[in-house]
Amino acid sequence: MRSKIIAGNWKMNMNNKETKNLVKGIKKSIKRVQLDNTRVIVAPAYVNLTSAIKRAKKSNLEVVSQNMHQAKNGAFTGEISADMLKGIGVKTVILGHSERRSIFGETDAILAEKVNSALENGLEIIFCFGELLEDRKSENHFSVVESQLKNGLFHLDSMAWNQIVLAYEPVWAIGTGETASPEQAQEMHAFIRKLLQEKYNTSVADNTSILYGGSVKPANAEEIFSKQDVDGGLIGGASLNVADFTAIIKAI
Ligand code: PEP
Repeated sequence: MRSKIIAGNWKMNMNNKETKNLVKGIKKSIKRVQLDNTRVIVAPAYVNLTSAIKRAKKSNLEVVSQNMHQAKNGAFTGEISADMLKGIGVKTVILGHSERRSIFGETDAILAEKVNSALENGLEIIFCFGELLEDRKSENHFSVVESQLKNGLFHLDSMAWNQIVLAYEPVWAIGTGETASPEQAQEMHAFIRKLLQEKYNTSVADNTSILYGGSVKPANAEEIFSKQDVDGGLIGGASLNVADFTAIIKAI
């Protein structure tokens, strides 16, 4: 059965002390929230993963990585491998965030390699994808999303989908304050589920969690999450504040 998920992507924010405080705050606040079949996840920067994991112990809060390199090891100065993440207790990695794609040049082909490396190391993946504003304006958003999924993930067999969470993030809605309407989110999520049904089977389509990301805030979360194919959110800005993040968790 697919789970509901609220995941906070902290990006390049929060030093070590701030990370510890934020984890502590979220841990405390979710103790008072009933989390039926709902996972709460945060993704701090690499250097703060270990202390965040330590702080999150004995709670329902999961600490995941924002990225990883596709190679097993080698001459890749400044990079981090799947094995390194696994070694410090990370179980899940976010891949394909639009900032990784646009700023750091991550192509679908690179992402397919990252996907394989993560799975070989037993890591679960939160796979991000979504169209640009120009794609939506030219009504190409469905074909862009379809090709991102095909190129990044559709080489996998159906078993591998136990380890995949999808995060649809229209790029025009990330950090802009502009949100896809609940209807736009539902329309795309239903389309994605149909693709999974066609490529794989009903079980993969029904059991894969599909998150929405893009300016989710306490004020709009409930309406977006009320849509039947929206299983939660990937939250940027609002995940850096305990009260806002908790309100979004409560909304689901
Ligand atoms: C994100 O970075 O994945 C994101 C959704 O950011 P924001 O919520 O700030 O739009």
